[in-house]
Amino acid sequence: MAKLTFLGAAGTVTGSKYLIEAAGKHLLVDCGIFQGSDELSNRNYQPLSSDPKTFDYVVLTHAHLDHTGWLPRLVKSGYRGPIYANPATIELTTLLLKDSAHLQEEDALQAQKHKDHRHSDAEPLYTSEDVDPVLQRMKPMPRSGLFDISPEFHIVSYDAGHILGSSSLELTITETAKKTIVVFSGDIGRYDQPILNDPVTPPSKADVLLCESTYGDRDHEPGNAPELLAEIVNRVAKRGGSIVIPAFAIGRTQTFMYYLRQLEDQQKIPKLPVYVDSPMALSATDLYLKYKEDHDLEYARVDNDGKGDPLDVHQFHLTRTADESKQINNVKTPCIIVAASGMVTGGRVMHHLAQRLPDARNAVILAGFQAQGTRGRALQEGAKTLRLYGQEVPVNAEIVELGQFSAHAGKSELLRWLRGFPTPPKQTYLVHGEPAAAQSLQGSIQQQLKWNASVARYLNTVTLS
Ligand SMILES: [Zn+2]
Repeated sequence: MAKLTFLGAAGTVTGSKYLIEAAGKHLLVDCGIFQGSDELSNRNYQPLSSDPKTFDYVVLTHAHLDHTGWLPRLVKSGYRGPIYANPATIELTTLLLKDSAHLQEEDALQAQKHKDHRHSDAEPLYTSEDVDPVLQRMKPMPRSGLFDISPEFHIVSYDAGHILGSSSLELTITETAKKTIVVFSGDIGRYDQPILNDPVTPPSKADVLLCESTYGDRDHEPGNAPELLAEIVNRVAKRGGSIVIPAFAIGRTQTFMYYLRQLEDQQKIPKLPVYVDSPMALSATDLYLKYKEDHDLEYARVDNDGKGDPLDVHQFHLTRTADESKQINNVKTPCIIVAASGMVTGGRVMHHLAQRLPDARNAVILAGFQAQGTRGRALQEGAKTLRLYGQEVPVNAEIVELGQFSAHAGKSELLRWLRGFPTPPKQTYLVHGEPAAAQSLQGSIQQQLKWNASVARYLNTVTLS
C-alpha cells in the first residue's frame, strides 16, 4: 500500500521533503533546508529518518532553497538516483545552490572570526565542492504535461505562478493495477500580478492533496505596489538614507527591478544606484528571455547597455567578491542594496544590516515571508536590537513590510486555487505553514469547501489509498 511521510514543511514553512513509498520504490518530492530557530536549523545537520541510499527518484516543484537546499546533503548521504526538474528549475537551482554554498562558506569564516557559535554555523552545511555532484544528477523533465518517471510513478506539471519554473505536480502512482493520484501544490503564486502567469489548479481527481499554507491565515495588505515603493524610495532618498532589501539575487529581486525601472522611466523616483550583492549575481534577464512561457514581460532590447530591458534599472551594479561587497559600506549617498538571505538567516545582508540599521535615515524593506525564529521575523515584529556577528545592533532604521511584493498566494487566493479542483480530494493535508496559518486554512477549507482537511505532522506517515 502506498505511503507518504512528511520529512519537512510540516508545522513550519521550510524544509519541504515528502517521501512516497509504493511498489517497493521510494520517490522524494522536494529536498529543502530548514530555516529559522536553532532547533530547525539543527535538523539540517541530522540524518533523515529514512536512508537516502534506498531512495530511487527525486522530483522538484521549484528552485527555492527551502525546496532544494538540502540536495547536497542528500547526495553526500549516499543518494545516487536522478533529480528531475524542468529546465528553468534546473538553471535556477544551480545558481541558488552555488550561491548558498558560497554564502555558507563566507558565514562560517565570519562566525569563526566573531566566535559566534549561537548556530552550528561555524561549519558550513555544505561547500561549493558538494554542489557539483548534485548538478550531475539533475535531469530535465517537461515544463508542462506528462512525464513518466518509472512504471509506478507518472508526473503531470502545472504552472504554479510563484517563480520561474515553479510547478504544482500531479503524481499518479500505479501499484498492482491500482492507481492513486496525489497532488503537490508546491508554492502557489498570486493572481493578476505583473511578470508571472497566474497559478493553474491541476484538473485532477486527487485522492490526496498536499497544499501549502504559508499565508493560510491572512491576505496581503491591499495597495498599489509601485506607488508604495515610490513613496518609500522618495522618503528615504530625501533624508539621505539607503534601502536594504533582504532577498536572493533571483526571483523577487527582478520584481523590484521591474518596478524601479518603471518608476525611474516615469520620473517618479530618482535614479539611485542599485547593488545586487551576490557571488552568483547575473543579469536575470537572460533567464527570463529563455523561459518566456512563464511570464508576460515584453522585452524591447534595443542595444547592449540594456536600454529597454524591463528588468534593468539605470544604475545597476553587480558585486561578486566579498571585498566588493564590503566596499558598498563606503557608499554614503542614497542607494538600494539587495542581498541574501531573504529572512536574514545568514549571507551578506547581515553585514549590510550591521552597517545600516543604526542610522534612522535608512530603511529595510521586508517583502518575503519571515519565518518564526529568524532575524527577519524579529525585525518585522519591531525588535529594538538585532544580534549580528555576536553583537546587539540597535535598530533605528525604518522597517517596512511590503506584502504586496510577496510571491505567495494570500488566504483568499489559496481558496480560489483550491476551488479549481473538479472534485474534492479525499484527503487534504496542509503543509508549508506555521501552525496558526495551517490551522486557519484547515478551518476555512472545512467550513467553506466541506472537504476533509488536516494539518500535516512532522515525521508522520500516512497511507495514500
Ligand atoms: Zn518558493
